[in-house]
Amino acid sequence: MTEISADLIEKMKIAAMTAQKNAYCPYSDHPVGTAVLDEQGRIFGGCNVETAHFKGVCAEASAISAMVTAGGKKLQAVFITAPDENLCGPCGDCRQRLYEFSTPDMPIYAATKSGQVKKILTLEELLPYAFGPQNIPPRG
Ligand SMILES: [Zn+2]
Repeated sequence: MTEISADLIEKMKIAAMTAQKNAYCPYSDHPVGTAVLDEQGRIFGGCNVETAHFKGVCAEASAISAMVTAGGKKLQAVFITAPDENLCGPCGDCRQRLYEFSTPDMPIYAATKSGQVKKILTLEELLPYAFGPQNIPPRG
């Protein structure tokens, strides 16, 4: 697994917890925060944003969108804070999204609402035999 410094993990935790406070989730009451570390060492936070038609955006998707919008290309690490003191892994859709921008052995820190890391996951565990860019023939 890729080694991430304790300082960066702490910064990601703070970014995830800060983003989580802004979660808009009046329908599920399930606030989630995420922070992603890109290939340039930048950290982007994200929270879930729901809508009345139930096609909201997950915290992971928000954070990845912020990274891509800022020109980030790859994820070095991901930190997710759950709505409570239990582990909250990414949904299936987000596992695919994380895979799209992942780097090999990228750690995913699954933490509680208070920021305690419950488990360090890999995409190999979360999405084995993933379908991804390698399955699509190059164009042009
Ligand atoms: Zn999701």
